[in-house]
Amino acid sequence: MDQASINAIRNAEIPAFNHLIGGKQVPASNGDTMKVVSPIDGSQLTTIARGTADDMTSAIASARAAFVDGRWKNMPPAMRKRVMHRWADLIEEHALELAVLGVRDNGTEIAMAYKAEPMSAAATLRYYGETTDKIYGEIAPTPNDILGMVHHEPVGVVGAIIPWNFPLMIGAWKIGPALALGNSIVVKPPETASLTLIRIAELALEAGIPDGVLNVVTGEGAVVGEAMALSMDVDVIAFTGSGNTGRRLLEYSARSNLKRVYLELGGKSPHIIFNDTSDLAKAAKVVAGGIFRNSGQVCVAGSRLLVQREIRHDFVKAVAEAAKMLNPGDPLLLETAVGAINSEVQLNQNLEAVQTAVSEGGEVMLGGERVLAETGGFYMEPTIIDGISPDNTLFQQEVFGPVLSVTQFDDEEEAIRLANHSDYGLAAGVWTCDVSRAHRMIKAIHAGVVHVNTYGGPDVTVPLGGVGQSGNGSDKSLHALDKYMNLKTAWMQL
Ligand code: NAD
Repeated sequence: MDQASINAIRNAEIPAFNHLIGGKQVPASNGDTMKVVSPIDGSQLTTIARGTADDMTSAIASARAAFVDGRWKNMPPAMRKRVMHRWADLIEEHALELAVLGVRDNGTEIAMAYKAEPMSAAATLRYYGETTDKIYGEIAPTPNDILGMVHHEPVGVVGAIIPWNFPLMIGAWKIGPALALGNSIVVKPPETASLTLIRIAELALEAGIPDGVLNVVTGEGAVVGEAMALSMDVDVIAFTGSGNTGRRLLEYSARSNLKRVYLELGGKSPHIIFNDTSDLAKAAKVVAGGIFRNSGQVCVAGSRLLVQREIRHDFVKAVAEAAKMLNPGDPLLLETAVGAINSEVQLNQNLEAVQTAVSEGGEVMLGGERVLAETGGFYMEPTIIDGISPDNTLFQQEVFGPVLSVTQFDDEEEAIRLANHSDYGLAAGVWTCDVSRAHRMIKAIHAGVVHVNTYGGPDVTVPLGGVGQSGNGSDKSLHALDKYMNLKTAWMQL
């Protein structure tokens, strides 16, 4: 990827996008569309179908028909693997096109988007494709006259509801294991970042995934997402997004067919710096990157800096210096460290969070403002707010923007108490050169992932899931397969 090839396609016309149902592009049943606005400059890029509940019903029916006739689940596993690998290859071949399309849609800086979106989605699909002919059933340790077997069966129809920050990466975390096991799937992309998910679904058809196995229905969460989650014919919902929507999905399940609902929700992740950290300059840079990349629109963003009293002053200064190197700019320039905020709505929420923090006594050390408004796009400075105490809103509530709070602690016990003083439990970071302390912290912190002397970067080989109000299941790794399979026991008298 180089700048000239990005520039060559950055203004390419984008056709109107429709749903993909039963292998065909289908407009909304009432012909309605939604504008797609680019956060880069506020211009209209194209339109997507504004789906109706009927559209969702028809996609679910198409997925069910494909599952029942077995066109995918009964394909020999090694053949399914080949198709999934071919799909991953096609995504890689189209990586530049997909990265530019995605950045125009959601505003992430291209250098990150290229790796984190098409390339990571391809790697994930390849990883799960590889499992198709490696998952065995079990034979139970029964008495001699009995044969007890455990079969792994696909659940049937999976509904995947995806957020806008990394639609391809997060989409692949759900689509990969669901398809590897032979399920059919209906994907509901986020309103403000639908285009790349539709595009990779077209590539899936080209790769040989049969019609109806992978369907995409665009539109508003409150309409098509709700219709999916209320359906009597969806077996599992796999969701990533906000806690509010997660709560609704559990309700929809209770009101319909008790489908399983897996939730990957938000976070307020602590990034903890002890004064025995051997390379504080490096830690400061990693802390800045850990919150400001993709403008803080990262579920595991280290948004609460907890720093030990003795080093607090100098360390926060170093983080601020590192953050100044991460000024936002045109996300389609390779040199840009931080791109745009996904939407005007999100930008305004971020600015509001800063106002609330200040009204509660926080001190803005850096940033706090919208910038580059003259572009028509949505950009915000990296923002650091010092003097935040555990009862402040900024300590408790996720912003999902480039806002870092600073709180100091005296000792390990206080660091643990502050880290766990949250309804969330998604990620954490610990910097120390004391190995025993690192192990104690890993055990003590309530989180799905604890980084030590680094932040971010776990790949598909390890699970990502939250505890507390950060969710109830894990994406990634072989463990994610469990969400999309049923265990069936066979008990035979011999
Ligand atoms: P959101 O909950 O507003 O939307 C997520 C998806 O849910 C979208 O596709 C939306 O259309 C759909 N939706 C909205 N209302 C719905 C309803 N009533 N019924 C069904 N579907 C509905 O979240 P968002 O703003 O897109 O994403 C940001 C959130 O996602 C943050 O909280 C972030 O931390 C979280 N997130 C978590 C992870 C993780 O792995 N834990 C990863 C990325 C983002």
